[in-house]
Amino acid sequence: MTMIGDDLQQVKNRIAKACAEHGRNPAEVRLLAVSKTFGPEAVREAHAAGQRAFGENYVQEGLDKIAALSDLRAELEWHCIGPLQSNKTRPVAEQFDWVHGIDRLKIAERLSAQRPAHLPPLQVCLQVNVDGGANKSGVPPEEALPLARAVAALPHLRLRGLMAIPEPAPDFAAQRELCLRARAVYDAIRAAGIELDTLSLGMSADLEAAVSAGSTMVRIGTAIFGRR
Ligand SMILES: *Cc1c(COP(=O)(O)O)cnc(C)c1O
Repeated sequence: MTMIGDDLQQVKNRIAKACAEHGRNPAEVRLLAVSKTFGPEAVREAHAAGQRAFGENYVQEGLDKIAALSDLRAELEWHCIGPLQSNKTRPVAEQFDWVHGIDRLKIAERLSAQRPAHLPPLQVCLQVNVDGGANKSGVPPEEALPLARAVAALPHLRLRGLMAIPEPAPDFAAQRELCLRARAVYDAIRAAGIELDTLSLGMSADLEAAVSAGSTMVRIGTAIFGRR
């Protein structure tokens, strides 16, 4: 197996082990391979090893990679996971399948208006700021429900869930505590009657804590592609 194929398998093993330890069904935790800073050939290698969903942080880099891999387009699912400025929404609405970083209505409205009619709705997650850091992106937890209601009503988007990027924490217990804050917001929105099925939570360093807190999609870069 190639090195990327090998590393992918190790990440899948970590997910399976965390699921077994925390009473989760591994089929409920999707793996998003974060390919930012790595070239199209790395994505091709991961695809050859069976990976289909890829995450990109920087819009232009993602667009270049989508173009370079156009022969695989029908098989790949591209997720925009970085912060999104309003002047960059159009190519994202036209080229990506998912957007994880929505933290204001204006961005969501633009994406909905710019999503081409011949494509399925853009799949979106709201980013929630679970640490309270004032200069971090993400909607504060108490504003997540009204934003979810507004985004769920937009015609060319489909609200799938929440995304969070907890600050690095020193150990499993501290990581889990931050992850559970995202889970609590997720549960509260679902309890209010808005259908969500995606909790996008967990990176290379806190995958196990995220799975223990109920993540349904882990976003893994370093552990698959190596150091950036
Ligand atoms: C880079 C990045 C990841 C992946 O992080 P790793 O620590 O390399 O696994 C996940 N989510 C977001 C939003 C990122 O920017």
